Amino acid sequence: MSEHPISRYMTRQPWTIRKDATLVDARTLMREHGIRHLPVLDAGRLQGVISDRDLHLLEALPASEPLTVEDAMSEDTYVTTAGESVANVVERMADRRRGSVVIVDDHARVVGIFTTIDAMQALAEIVRREPDAVAPPPIPVGVSARHVHLSRAHCDVLFGPGVLLSPRHEVSQPHQFVMAQRIDLIGPHGELHDVAIINPLRNETQVELARTDAIHLGITAPVRESGHLAGTPGLRLRGPCGEVELDHGAILAQRHVHMTPDDAQAYGVHDRDIIQVRVAGAREMVLGDVVVRVSPEFALDLHLDTDEANAAGLDDGGTVSFAGIERRAG
Ligand SMILES: [Zn+2]
Repeated sequence: MSEHPISRYMTRQPWTIRKDATLVDARTLMREHGIRHLPVLDAGRLQGVISDRDLHLLEALPASEPLTVEDAMSEDTYVTTAGESVANVVERMADRRRGSVVIVDDHARVVGIFTTIDAMQALAEIVRREPDAVAPPPIPVGVSARHVHLSRAHCDVLFGPGVLLSPRHEVSQPHQFVMAQRIDLIGPHGELHDVAIINPLRNETQVELARTDAIHLGITAPVRESGHLAGTPGLRLRGPCGEVELDHGAILAQRHVHMTPDDAQAYGVHDRDIIQVRVAGAREMVLGDVVVRVSPEFALDLHLDTDEANAAGLDDGGTVSFAGIERRAG
């Protein structure tokens, strides 16, 4: 037995009509009981269904003799049993473009009828009871404080040739670590000390700042996706063994959401789509321009910098809800 049997959503209907009854009889029965479909029987056996639409169609035609239910009914009736799941029934109704289904018991006796109106009521009831079944799940938030990704060459200058940094803890994405060692950032107007390093090492050094950080340092860093560093400003990096003068690599990270292919399917999005997310609470807002990044290696996580999170009143581990697709990946 299904969790949502059709018997729970059907209209229990003791009213049926014989196939030799007149259309006037059918019209009267429908009107009396406020129904729009009648199962048609002959010697107790289901022969078809007549609907008020069938009546309308035939009543509009000039007829020489009184028409019977048999003239107007549709014989190609969709019949099912009371234990069938509402999902299966609705799917088949849609496939076959049917407006009604007759439900019979084990002895082929008519016990009810399920129409598109019943289907709409079932939908409303199920959605109200199980909002999670239709609403995509909330997206966890990971707040990225300012940090640096280093190249091997720059790591050698800052910490000594060939030195391996030691991981302190894993970040929200698998195989990425905040290292125990830290460096200082030196800009034209200010410095930031003890800035985190995230490994593994990369081909190019990249400094990810909040806008407040960039203002403090005295640089104008653009919003960029990770790895898109052409034309970005540089900074001086200071480690225990030396300094690096970067000529480019400082960015404000474009906000983005990491997800698995299963997550992407749940939200109906693809890699590189641009989406919106909604932040609830006292500082409710919608954040747009969120880049979707899909990989089986990822964990579901919206990455914001500290300025973005603070403006929205979000903490690490908070959640936002999916608010729709802004642009499809082109
Ligand atoms: Zn990220």
